[in-house]
Amino acid sequence: MSITFNDLGLGPDVLRAVTEKGYETPTPIQAKAIPEVLKGRDVLGLAQTGTGKTASFTLPLIDILARGRAKARIPRSVILEPTRELAAQVAEHFELYGKYHKLSTALLIGGVSFGDQDKKLDRGVDVLIATPGRLLDHCERGKLMLTGTQILVIDEADRMLDMGFIPDIERIAKLIPFTRQTLFFSATMPKEIERLVDQFLHNPVRVEVAPPASPAEKVTQALVRVRGEEKRDALRHLIRTQNVKNAIIFCNRKRDVGTLASTLARQGFSAGALHGDMDQRHRIATLEQFRNGTISLLVASDVAARGLDIPEVSHVFNFDVPIHAEDYIHRIGRTGRAGRSGAAFTLASSHDGKHVAAIESLIGKAIPPMALEGFVAEPAEEAEASPSRERGPRGRGRGRSRGEGRGEARGERSERQAERPAPEAAAPEKAPEEPRPPRAERSERGRRGGRREEADPPVLGLGEHTPAFLLKPVRLPKGRLSDAIDGEDEAALTGTDG
Ligand code: AMP
Repeated sequence: MSITFNDLGLGPDVLRAVTEKGYETPTPIQAKAIPEVLKGRDVLGLAQTGTGKTASFTLPLIDILARGRAKARIPRSVILEPTRELAAQVAEHFELYGKYHKLSTALLIGGVSFGDQDKKLDRGVDVLIATPGRLLDHCERGKLMLTGTQILVIDEADRMLDMGFIPDIERIAKLIPFTRQTLFFSATMPKEIERLVDQFLHNPVRVEVAPPASPAEKVTQALVRVRGEEKRDALRHLIRTQNVKNAIIFCNRKRDVGTLASTLARQGFSAGALHGDMDQRHRIATLEQFRNGTISLLVASDVAARGLDIPEVSHVFNFDVPIHAEDYIHRIGRTGRAGRSGAAFTLASSHDGKHVAAIESLIGKAIPPMALEGFVAEPAEEAEASPSRERGPRGRGRGRSRGEGRGEARGERSERQAERPAPEAAAPEKAPEEPRPPRAERSERGRRGGRREEADPPVLGLGEHTPAFLLKPVRLPKGRLSDAIDGEDEAALTGTDG
């Protein structure tokens, strides 16, 4: 007999909320992790979004925290999320499943005023959901103490690594008593993450679940070869002919996201844009419009769309072939969620051969080609012997052809490159676009209403925070910079913006 929610040890009020939500059976990670969390064990959960992992920690946490009371400025539990959107999603979970409890929650994310957040903290919170930088900012301002925190959840650890947050996570973990319970979730386990696990978890129960289903099984994929200049027409043609209910259209570069969304809107489609340069309010509003069907096409960048739970997307279009093969899996995984089928179309021009080959190697098969009536199918420029046939799948988390891309060779950088901080030892041209002044200086500028505060909207995921290595000076090779980035960014990189 299969396990039910009643078998997991959860209290009646949480069970009532779960039933009302309509969940019938726990997902594998929920079935395995919830009883262990309730026992007070540290948990290492190897699972990605889409597996139900959020409820695997929110449900038992609600039960545990139902016993006891919060004190001012000392949160009883801390949940760290890499992006504001994910943090907001987790907060929604607490609201939903905790509706029969009186737990107080606070969301500490960039883009929300410190004053409002301080007031909440002063009243005492049971659950503090935060992005790492904002949390540290509050600690440094003396508004938050972690000395009484009993439970620490680190979610999406490998994404935190991607975004340069690991030093912050280490600092935060050291501020919380050793006797705490730690729940740690990551989709993959690179070395740096293993090191963190060894350092911060005590005899953890390891719970590993397979990804919901390999995208290759649930999503119908097609590769449409067209001339670069015909990509927009081809996209329009596909949207009109493929029975699209709603779709996410991915571009590699932020500026293309806005341009394509405006073009589609001008052509009569209900389209919106989502990228990391938009302010928080605008992003949330656009996302909500997409969720509630006011707009049916969401043009997005990888970083902006990362981790978002948008359950019903009928189609994904890759307007650009992703430069990093694993982004292909994240992108097409936006459709075919929660047991539904979905379709993903990738537009590829003759220059995209290498990236298509890397994707096919990663997913272990060729993306089925599809001819579009009225369009010339442009063959790939480079020999595209599908590596999958020779080597088979390369497994999750690999397949990256960093720096090999056509755009990258020309000095163009995808949003992901721009927003994902480069490793410390990386070549200078991989330096992030917008290093920020030190924290103290930033707040000073903020108080003065300095130029940067107006001209430099917060980058998604980094919130108000600056990972330490971004503050190191970057040496740039002469002549490369102007190829690589806009003048404004050049000023920021070379520290000439005053
Ligand atoms: P997550 O992996 O936490 O992002 O969850 C992915 C999706 O699965 C969300 O839309 C959840 O609402 C949904 N979900 C989580 N647990 C269950 C469950 N036991 N049964 C059905 N759907 C679930």
